[in-house]
Amino acid sequence: MGEYVLLRHRDIPNIDNIEVYRQNGGFEALQKVVTSMQPDEVTDVVKASGLRGRGGAGFPTGLKWSFIDRKKWPHYVVVNADESEPGTFKDREIMERNPYQFLEGVAICAYAVGAHAAYIYLRGEFWPVAATLDKHIAAMEAGGFLGDNLFGSNYHLRMFTHLGAGAYICGEETALLESMEGKLGQPRLRPPFPPSFGLYGKPTIVNNVETLTNVPLIMARGAEWYKSIGTEKSPGPKIFSLSGRVNRPGNYELPLGTTFRELIYTHGGGVPGDRSVKAIMAAGASSSLIIGSEAALDTPMDYESVPSLGAQLGSASVIVIDDTISIPWLINKTIHFFKHESCGKCTPCREGNFWMLNLTERIAHGHADWSDVELLYAVASQMRGKCLCALGEFAIEAVVSGIERFRPDFEAAVGKAASQG
Ligand code: SF4
Repeated sequence: MGEYVLLRHRDIPNIDNIEVYRQNGGFEALQKVVTSMQPDEVTDVVKASGLRGRGGAGFPTGLKWSFIDRKKWPHYVVVNADESEPGTFKDREIMERNPYQFLEGVAICAYAVGAHAAYIYLRGEFWPVAATLDKHIAAMEAGGFLGDNLFGSNYHLRMFTHLGAGAYICGEETALLESMEGKLGQPRLRPPFPPSFGLYGKPTIVNNVETLTNVPLIMARGAEWYKSIGTEKSPGPKIFSLSGRVNRPGNYELPLGTTFRELIYTHGGGVPGDRSVKAIMAAGASSSLIIGSEAALDTPMDYESVPSLGAQLGSASVIVIDDTISIPWLINKTIHFFKHESCGKCTPCREGNFWMLNLTERIAHGHADWSDVELLYAVASQMRGKCLCALGEFAIEAVVSGIERFRPDFEAAVGKAASQG
């Protein structure tokens, strides 16, 4: 890919300086929409671009904006900057290095949905990022890009950062809203959904950082330009956070539809020691385990193709697992995480993760027999479809796919117990 769309700081030094950002076309899209477009026209362009949410679900962004309830006021925009998925580190780079493009995207979204206040909810550990964003927001106010009568219009907008307190579950949008309201960060029962009942019960659009960072260039260059990148159903660029057993881990901005092979071998420099790819987690710890076959490596990374491998693209946090890694050991690590992060609101997730942790501890450390593997599979299968939010579903993905697709690893773990017994 030639020019960066999202990680533009890699092409343009000091783009986190407001003057440099302006010299490179910064805020021209915001000025255009506020002075010459109706809010619905902005939403229509985003719809036409095919932009899909980059937080994990891949929901069409313009369609989400169009759901805002125009019978209830005020409206809010809340940015989900709670980036906590193990293996995901893309939003942080955007906020630290290309912050004005992100903030301009937030402002355009706010204009489109008729919001006069926008909140950026960051995970608690991102406090230095929040402090720097506060300075950038102040610079935008001083420059006339936030505040009253923007560009001489009667539109006004204010932006605020808000820090969480270190809970992964607050990346779930309704738990995030509860946390912002000062309550325990636990998911709400849905429906109603945030576009009709969001922050303080008012219509709210919740979008991810990377999603909104696409918006200024879509408005500046048009939907057709955007659709020329990526695939027909998954247009645009995507930041792939690559980690695990690769020589060059990091963030890679590539068109959606790039293959796993190109990401891992061309950009990531392959696997240390030229070992083989045993498995791939495409969506961080929340992933099903993809068998690292030649066909899987040649699969395009987009919202339509990854499901053909029995997995999801999610936030595109690609973790590479080589043949030195035991799958029961890996699953034990993911369940440690989900057991710790379960908010405890619903029984299947709270109890299921507790028991999955007990069982994976025994299996991974060679103290189990095959009935423990069967019990683990049964617990995970019983959780499916019975949890209040996606965390419970995410927790079982690696367990179920691991047992189904990497049975010899479990047999070896159990065999170890038998030989020790
Ligand atoms: Fe909480 Fe887990 Fe239930 Fe989600 S699925 S509400 S994290 S207990």
